[in-house]
Amino acid sequence: MTHILHRQIHATLPVAAGGKGIELFDRDGRAYIDASGGAAVSCLGHSHPDVTAALHAQADKLAYAHTSFFTNEPAETLADKLVAGAPQGISHAYFVSGGSEAVEAALKMARQFFVETGKPERRNVIARRQSYHGNTLGALAAGGNEWRRAQFRPLLIDTHHIDPCYAYRFQEAGESVEAYGLRAAQALEDKILELGPDTVMAFVAEPVVGATAGAVPAVPGYFRRIREICDRYGVLLILDEVMCGIGRTGTLHACEQDGVAPDLMTIAKGLGGGYQPIGAVLLSRRIFDAFAEGSGFFQHGHTYMCHPLACAAALAVQEVIARDDLLANVRAMGAHLSWRLGERFGNHAHIGDIRGRGLFMGLELVEDRSSKQPFDPDRKLNARVKREAMARGLLVYPAGGTIDGVRGDHVLLAPPFIIDAAATDAVVERLGDAIDAAVA
Ligand code: PLP
Repeated sequence: MTHILHRQIHATLPVAAGGKGIELFDRDGRAYIDASGGAAVSCLGHSHPDVTAALHAQADKLAYAHTSFFTNEPAETLADKLVAGAPQGISHAYFVSGGSEAVEAALKMARQFFVETGKPERRNVIARRQSYHGNTLGALAAGGNEWRRAQFRPLLIDTHHIDPCYAYRFQEAGESVEAYGLRAAQALEDKILELGPDTVMAFVAEPVVGATAGAVPAVPGYFRRIREICDRYGVLLILDEVMCGIGRTGTLHACEQDGVAPDLMTIAKGLGGGYQPIGAVLLSRRIFDAFAEGSGFFQHGHTYMCHPLACAAALAVQEVIARDDLLANVRAMGAHLSWRLGERFGNHAHIGDIRGRGLFMGLELVEDRSSKQPFDPDRKLNARVKREAMARGLLVYPAGGTIDGVRGDHVLLAPPFIIDAAATDAVVERLGDAIDAAVA
């Protein structure tokens, strides 16, 4: 009998007891390949000696110092490192404890920016359907997953949702990828004009949609047009790279591959690789200057912001990734994974789409390939695939979201950046068996 309230009240979960490299072990000694890094978190795998050594050293020196009295060395160094590698215009980092907190802070930064610059009527947020930005109320409001929002709707701030850039579902027959990207982006301009440009504060989007859609990247050109539209109407662009960022797609930031720089960016999961809870908002000079020249204050804060242990862990994770050139491995193993998935599932009767970037790949499960009809939600296929995979010693993330009222089933793969070709092959083989058993 457990005294923990887990998400799934009636599920009996194994007890995680250890981890090494790409594997996790439960208390009964069963090993699992962690092919989703939890939820795209464990980018360095488990028990990396350099990270645990850095954590021990920091714990011996300083575990906590409140930010109203002090800054601290790991936070300062981490901020320098992140700003040095950030997209153009980013000048500062704001550290919190995870992705939802980062999204909340980014929304409040956007709002305060307009208050400080004399445009308090800008308060509307535009985001996309079938997105996930976190579970706290502001982040949940931004998210476009109706299944998650429905019962909490009375508590949510007003947000407005447009369709995502999701070629498999929305690109029309005969339409080029470029034309589709421009059409999808046009939905933002239409929404801004509908709401009134002077009322719109920010557009929030994941460059590669993760938890709700299973690694759906935008088509080329989409985000460049989104950036133009934001600039035309003075709307801030918030890119949520909590899941897809910090190396997961093969470049440090996913938006590099889209050729855009945001005004605000959120990062989290892979930042600390699961060794400590940490997230961050990367903000542009323009926003920092508005605060600096205005009230001199960002009116927000949490007890654990800039936590020294969390920042030390993140610093160690990011240093190992750079030192060992792991982004090169993400690109090489990402290409290998994509090839092996194509081989195994390219003609599978129930896999409609295989997509993603780097070591961030998704499969979309469908009842019928030609009509793209999803499975009946009552079959709970996501949960079945997860169970069948676990029974085969494999962890994959069951991504799911609603689009036009239909809940889709997706499998998300986000293995540690240290994975090799043999382990990647094992992931695909076990996943194939798990999916076949789940749909049977
Ligand atoms: N934003 C995105 C894109 C996410 O995928 C998530 C989590 O899955 C979040 C925000 C929320 O992060 P957290 O669970 O750390 O609060």
